[in-house]
Amino acid sequence: MKPPAANTRTRKAPIPILILVIIPLIGLGFYVSPNLLDTTPPILTINGLEKDQRYRGSLTLNIVAMDKKPGLGSLSVRIDDGPPTSLDFVEGGSTFWTLQTAAFADGPHTVFVTATDRSLYKNPKHYLLPFYIDNTPPTLHVSPETLRVGQGRTLALFLQTDEPLADIRGTLFDKAVTFYPTNSENLYRSFLGIGVTSAAQNYPFTVNATDLVGNEAERTFQVEVRKTVFARGGYITLSPKKQRIMMDRSKSRADNAKRGAAYAKADRETNQLWEGKFIRPTEGRLTSPFGKYREYNTGIRRHHYGTDIANVVGTPVYASNRGIVTLANRLHIYGNAVILNHGQGVSTSYNHLSEIDVQVEERVEKGQRIGLMGATGQATGSHLHWGMVIKGVAVAPEEWTERDFSSPEIERLSPPNGEYR
Ligand SMILES: [Zn+2]
Repeated sequence: MKPPAANTRTRKAPIPILILVIIPLIGLGFYVSPNLLDTTPPILTINGLEKDQRYRGSLTLNIVAMDKKPGLGSLSVRIDDGPPTSLDFVEGGSTFWTLQTAAFADGPHTVFVTATDRSLYKNPKHYLLPFYIDNTPPTLHVSPETLRVGQGRTLALFLQTDEPLADIRGTLFDKAVTFYPTNSENLYRSFLGIGVTSAAQNYPFTVNATDLVGNEAERTFQVEVRKTVFARGGYITLSPKKQRIMMDRSKSRADNAKRGAAYAKADRETNQLWEGKFIRPTEGRLTSPFGKYREYNTGIRRHHYGTDIANVVGTPVYASNRGIVTLANRLHIYGNAVILNHGQGVSTSYNHLSEIDVQVEERVEKGQRIGLMGATGQATGSHLHWGMVIKGVAVAPEEWTERDFSSPEIERLSPPNGEYR
């Protein structure tokens, strides 16, 4: 056993050292450690750049960095693996940093923002944001390569771009051309209906496209309208009563107003309602093709804006394709008439019917009976006057029975003459 006296003496000796050295050190530690030994990184907030979004031109980031203890030590930013740029900062205030995106290639990039505090450990806070630089206008590729179309015919025009678009519009014959999206990515389609009396020549067709960040592209293509040799002849003798109807402009105007309103509904329908090729809507003899130049006993000479199929009164008339009824009414010249909206500016009409089976707003399927053949209105005998209108322009409906205009795969030139047999 050790003597207790010796123990007492050794315990007393460190007390002055404790007072003079260790206590002040602890005090200093209490003061310094929350700052120097702090392990909490700064808080970083970034505005002006959203993750994975596309940007063009100059881009300004608003960076707010703060560190309660011991305060902010540094703030820097870099793009991808480039050198960091040190930023002057105000603790807790906004620091603006502008990036000229044109200095970088188009494509995916990442911005890294790093803030550190003034502690011994220089606690860092990293913030990384992937984004996309796009300073290039969209490319516009048109198919078919050669835009060639006959008078009274349809040109289905496909426009392929390399990126999503915010807006696309065209101008032809000083009129706006609407492009509609297709099922394929970045592929748009437009139907150009060429009037039978449009002069056979080249026309500029301008397309303006804007991508999602506002890069604009404009391209002008040439549309070559070729002469269609329309059949001539046929002298049509109307009864005195029907002659009077034909010469009564107010009656034509009333008809045209109703028809125009029905066609306009198809222009507003952005969906393609039809499917595949159109069908010839009735059985019978083709008595007058589309575009045939005819003379009436009223002295009027004009192109025939439809295709006539003749058969006995009561022959069923079917919808050429799926659509919505936009007119089902008795007209002066067209008699009992039905107009179907097939979407994207495409309509078909069925005229001189003895009976109408459908109502406005009704959806009809391809091949569904919509009425019976007759001779109502300005008709010399029982027949169906079958018409097709694209954006207000009458075109040959037969062409749509031969070709599926929905797909860009098949490119086929219109026949050189107006005859369809
Ligand atoms: Zn006709």
